[in-house]
Amino acid sequence: MLKDTFHRTIDYMRISITDRCNLRCMYCMPSGGLKPIRHKEILRYEEIVRILRIAVHTGVRKVRITGGEPLVRKNITRLIKMIKSIEGIDELSITTNGILLEHYAGELANAGLDRVNISLDSLKSDRYREITRGGVIDAVLKGIEASEKAGLVPIKINMVPIRGLNDDEIADFAKITLEFPYQVRFIEFMPFVTENMWTQEKFISAEEIKSIVEQTGILVPAKTKRSGPARYFRFAGAAGVVGFISPISNHFCKECNRLRLTADGKLRPCLFSETEIDLKPALRNNGPDAEIKRLIELSIAVKPESHSIKMENSFRAADSFVINAFQNTHRRPMSKIGG
Ligand code: SAM
Ligand code: SF4
Repeated sequence: MLKDTFHRTIDYMRISITDRCNLRCMYCMPSGGLKPIRHKEILRYEEIVRILRIAVHTGVRKVRITGGEPLVRKNITRLIKMIKSIEGIDELSITTNGILLEHYAGELANAGLDRVNISLDSLKSDRYREITRGGVIDAVLKGIEASEKAGLVPIKINMVPIRGLNDDEIADFAKITLEFPYQVRFIEFMPFVTENMWTQEKFISAEEIKSIVEQTGILVPAKTKRSGPARYFRFAGAAGVVGFISPISNHFCKECNRLRLTADGKLRPCLFSETEIDLKPALRNNGPDAEIKRLIELSIAVKPESHSIKMENSFRAADSFVINAFQNTHRRPMSKIGG
């Protein structure tokens, strides 16, 4: 296993396979969408698999496929099968908005997918349509059901609470865990380039979200398998757990174990940094495996200790500074990095 400069084991790769999406969530994309990456710039499945075969030798064991919306890319089941056949990859999951999941859940599970994270920011159909600019919630709910049936468990549901938009549903989301064995995770709203409408007033810290959830009942810490950045809790007797992810108010850089690969072949050591290492020239100019391995190791070596912005102090002291700093460091929006 390869450790980075700060003694973190880097064993997780998040791979964006497309920057395109069938939704236009208000907090992620502008209404008119973004100029898509040109088709020929997008890594082919064979190229992604080659990178992963090599990354296994640097210690990568866990892979998550994301986007954009990964299920809009053609033949994703083929990619899942290809990744699953790589010796050394122990866990393969996907993050999706769930719109197409009902149709794919069975075949993805058969192809070897282990788990699925579904993003859902409202349980009300009108509001869901408004937030996603056109999404139909029934499709997502059917997708969740189909995933459970297919054994893609535990189902993880990700919600981004935004003040004045969907914060009145925090308790309803948490209550889902009373009956269903899901992991409902609340993720702090992050500012990105594009008019993603981030303001400090709309931001709700994980601490505040947790205090809202606690109005429903007492939470006790829950043990989950390898919890990543989320802190998990359970209501007494509940079937599922609630998780809190606080990239802004309490960043978890010390435990960060991941690299991100963008759809156009750039390795990104940190979500909040502009540093990117381009693998495509080596891939497309017959570079040897050793060169690609060197570039992966380089991106691990340059992984910063923490985000460049000292959020905890500056967030309170000078909010406008934080927003500007973010705008300067986030040249790519979330849908183009891979959330
Ligand atoms: N389209 C897929 C989906 O929505 O699950 C995968 C890509 S999406 C960029 C991955 C995750 O990023 C989603 O859970 C989404 O809620 C989250 N995300 C996007 N923009 C965000 C923001 N500004 N703040 C917090 N989370 C965000
Ligand atoms: Fe698409 Fe996911 Fe971004 Fe929503 S959050 S616009 S579904 S990429």
